[in-house]
Amino acid sequence: MSIRTKLSVHERPRVAIVGAGLGGLSAAIAIARSGCEVTVYEQASSLGQVGAGINLTPNVLLAMRELGLEQGLLERAFRPEHHVFRDFRSGRD
Ligand SMILES: Cc1cc2nc3c(=O)[nH]c(=O)nc-3n(C[C@H](O)[C@H](O)[C@H](O)COP(=O)(O)OP(=O)(O)OC[C@H]3O[C@@H](n4cnc5c(N)ncnc54)[C@H](O)[C@@H]3O)c2cc1C
Repeated sequence: MSIRTKLSVHERPRVAIVGAGLGGLSAAIAIARSGCEVTVYEQASSLGQVGAGINLTPNVLLAMRELGLEQGLLERAFRPEHHVFRDFRSGRD
């Protein structure tokens, strides 16, 4: 049994993705790598940082590796030595 993952130039489906957030951009990369022609539509005039940072869990890192983004991430990210989660009402760990 063979599974076809690449399409020929003549049969490239065109895919529209609405929203250039984490989900939309990840989907765009994955779908484009399968041979589709992807266009991402974003309502914001520019993409920028929201908040102080983003915590990537192990499964996210696996997905980033699949998308070929792991090395770039590791060059820009840092590995925290510990986390402290607090209840926002009481402030207790
Ligand atoms: C304060 C905060 C901290 C967080 N911290 C973490 C964290 O540490 N780790 C973690 O894994 N997750 C974290 N999250 C969650 C994470 O940010 C979301 O799960 C993730 O951004 C969702 O991705 P998304 O692509 O679904 O949506 P979004 O990232 O929200 O992207 C949606 C995009 O679609 C665009 N859009 C919407 N409607 C239209 C339209 N009609 N036309 C065109 N464009 C449109 C929006 O402008 C936006 O750019 C945090 C969230 C918040 C709010």
